[in-house]
Parts: sequence; C-alpha cells; structure tokens
Amino acid sequence: MSQPARFRTLLILGAPGSGKGTQGKVLGAIPRFHHLACGDVFRSLDTRTPLGQKFVEYSSRGELVPDDLTVQLWHANINQRVDGHVFKPEIDFLVLDGIPRNVEQAKLMEKDIEVLKVFHLSCPDRTELARRLRKRALKDNRFDDANEAVIQQRFATYEAETKPILDYYAGDRICQIDASQPPAKVLYDIIAGVMTLEAWRDIEKMRV
Ligand code: ADP
Repeated sequence: MSQPARFRTLLILGAPGSGKGTQGKVLGAIPRFHHLACGDVFRSLDTRTPLGQKFVEYSSRGELVPDDLTVQLWHANINQRVDGHVFKPEIDFLVLDGIPRNVEQAKLMEKDIEVLKVFHLSCPDRTELARRLRKRALKDNRFDDANEAVIQQRFATYEAETKPILDYYAGDRICQIDASQPPAKVLYDIIAGVMTLEAWRDIEKMRV
C-alpha cells in the first residue's frame, strides 16, 4: 500500500468546550484513526523554550499562536509520527482537532492534507460551553479555562478566526453535529458521517 500524496484528513471543528478533544481521543483509540490535537502538542512543549513561551503568552490571552510557528510545529510533529510509524498515512485517517484554526493555516496546510470531512460540533449555547470549560479548568489544570475574561476572548477568537473555515471548506464536506447531545451520541453521528466517505470503503476492505 503506497502513501497517499496528502494525508486523508477528518477535521473536528468547534468552539472551546464543544467536545473536540473528547471525540478526537475516542476516535483515535479506534484502529485506522490517528488523532492529533494541536493544543496538546503546544501543552507538551517545555515552557522554557522560545516556542513554549509564545504558547503561554498567546493562550493565556485567549488568542491564537501565530500561524507560521503553529504550522511549522504541526509539520515537525506529524513528520515525527510518520517516521516513528505511529501514524501510518497509507492506512490511517488523520483526525485533526484544533488545527487548522483559521483560513490562513488551512491554506498553509493545503499541500499536506486532503480534507475529506469537516465535523462541525455546533453548540450555540455559550453558557453551556463556559460551564464545561470551568469544569475542565478544575479537573485538567487548564489555566486558559480558569478565567472568565479569557474564556470570553476564546469564544470571540473562535467566531472571528476559526468559524470562517466552514466557508473555506463549504459544500458536502461539512457535516453539522449537535454538540449539546451526550458524548456517545455525538460520536455516533461522527462515525455515521465517516461511513459515507469513499475513502472509508477503501479502508474498510483493508486487511492489515
Ligand atoms: P480548546 O480545545 O479549548 O479549543 P485547545 O487545547 O485546542 O483549546 O487550544 C488551547 C490554546 O492553544 C488556544 O487558545 C491557542 O492559544 C493555542 N492553539 C491551539 N491550537 C492552535 C492553532 N492551530 N493555532 C494557533 N494557536 C493554537
């Protein structure tokens, strides 16, 4: 099986607290799906390094880290995963969560990823999302979730910068998912969307 020219990619898009990470982790535990959360890659950086410092600087304000740095970091990280045979592009879907996070990043990544589906985890109720973030702040030690003003700024950043990605990938690729449902039902809807894909039929037939 040869490596595709671009990674077969599923994007999970949604406001902070919409459940991207929860769904991505579960999907990534299923054979033939490989999950990469950009926020986790940033959080794994040593905060004493220049890039680690940039991450703390921007994320603590609820803003995005500059695009060139972000995409370079993503590139280095995904190549490591390919080299280490953790992500196997010839047989795996790549499930991206948190990247691309704006249209500029989508453009920079165009040559590397073939976006087959965009799962939009939609939850217009910002009060519910903020409630989830405050809960996460306590459990996961997320400093960017602990402060009300930062939470509001993250919602604003999402509206202004991330949501336009839906127009960039407009068409059949967008799959609207109701993120206010219980996690198991959200997962069910995502999997149903994956199974409509032609690439799924290829992967389904594989014996590895
Ligand atoms: P959430 O899951 O709540 O949306 P993430 O863990 O994905 O949050 O991201 C946390 C922070 O990391 C963001 O607020 C941002 O500062 C930084 N970050 C993560 N991904 C990106 C990205 N693709 N581009 C720029 N900054 C990013």
